[in-house]
Amino acid sequence: MSVGSASPVLNGPLLTGPFLLWYLLLWATLMRALLVKARVLPPTCGRCGLGYERRVLGEHVCGCRD
Ligand SMILES: [Zn+2]
Repeated sequence: MSVGSASPVLNGPLLTGPFLLWYLLLWATLMRALLVKARVLPPTCGRCGLGYERRVLGEHVCGCRD
């Protein structure tokens, strides 16, 4: 029984070279997108899903607090 090949996933090519770089790049891009999205999107009501403040004329807003 060979000990070196006990964990082929950790010792394999998955966490080395180009794949690791690609993985980090993808992860960074995803995190940046999430942060931007969180800042851009206004807070919305948890019950009706509508925003609290009207951004566009005639836009439906939350009426739960009235
Ligand atoms: Zn609401």
